[in-house]
Amino acid sequence: MPTGSLHIDLEAIAANWRALDGRSAASCETGACVKADAYGLGVAQVAPRLFKAGCRAFFVATAQEGLELRRVLGPEPRIYVFYGHMVGDTATIERADLVPMLCSIEQIARQLEALPKKPFGLQLDTGMNRLGLKMADWAAVAELALRARPVLIMSHLASADDPDSDQSAAQLKRFHEMTDGVSVPRSLAATGGTLLGSPYHFDMTRPGIGLYGGLPYAAAEPVVSLDLPVITCFDVPAGEPVGYNATWTAKSDTRIATVAGGYADGLHRALSPGVEVMAGPVPCPVVGRVSMDLLTVDIGHLDRDPETLRVLDPHRGVDHLAEAAGSIGYEMLTSLGARYRRSYRDGTS
Ligand SMILES: *Cc1c(COP(=O)(O)O)cnc(C)c1O
Repeated sequence: MPTGSLHIDLEAIAANWRALDGRSAASCETGACVKADAYGLGVAQVAPRLFKAGCRAFFVATAQEGLELRRVLGPEPRIYVFYGHMVGDTATIERADLVPMLCSIEQIARQLEALPKKPFGLQLDTGMNRLGLKMADWAAVAELALRARPVLIMSHLASADDPDSDQSAAQLKRFHEMTDGVSVPRSLAATGGTLLGSPYHFDMTRPGIGLYGGLPYAAAEPVVSLDLPVITCFDVPAGEPVGYNATWTAKSDTRIATVAGGYADGLHRALSPGVEVMAGPVPCPVVGRVSMDLLTVDIGHLDRDPETLRVLDPHRGVDHLAEAAGSIGYEMLTSLGARYRRSYRDGTS
């Protein structure tokens, strides 16, 4: 095994989609957010499995991602683009039959000018202050925009992963103020909002991270496991340093395994010290600095040298790793490098 081996469980992704779908009423459509190559897991594998599970609404960030997804999924499902209709996107949007989620007056003008009668959606800003029409802009263009018959109106919650935050309720109130009485399907909830309950669901939810086994969906089935091959093992006497800048020194005689995987593979340099990898059931501490392509692991307590070490498994998921790196599961997933050998479990194929 020349490089790390990343295993992605498409059945678990489908099960997570079905479970999140089950959190909302049957009248509420459940979409899937597959931007950034399905959070790094491979959109060409993930999206068709979600389609088979019944998903017909897919969300991506860029028009280019939308075009690639259209090639994978064929003509049937609707593909929504969070960046909206940017300069230079017109041909791609038209060719791939994408639904740009327009987020400014400028984008609305561009869409109605370049692609009149083509489907589009609208993004409203309800307090996150990131993307979407603000209250005053919306008041100015709502009539014109609604006359052109948008297929979806959405907004995004800034703190849905924190049930104790008041921001979600404030955004919900604002969303009602901006959209009540409008006869266009509405969407407010990603994974976090889906878990906040039915007042947040409206006509469509659009979970991402929960499908891939990440927080805030704590009940998710685990999706990824990652094994790294051991390149070499050697004894290190007490007092010897290991790795760049000698940040770790052996307190007693021990044995080190040097493993194929480093920060270029998404194992962030901030992981050291403190993270453990598994030799079968036995945890082994990563010691010394993470290098670009290599990790060093203290295996002095093992009876024999391991062939591989497991970095991610059902008990140590991306959020466990993220915590050690001062990051979040989303960032760990989307950082997983291109060098891993990828394998997929797909019970339907
Ligand atoms: C990424 C994203 C989602 C999905 O969010 P998760 O927290 O991963 O469920 C939904 N809506 C928008 C606007 C997004 O940017």
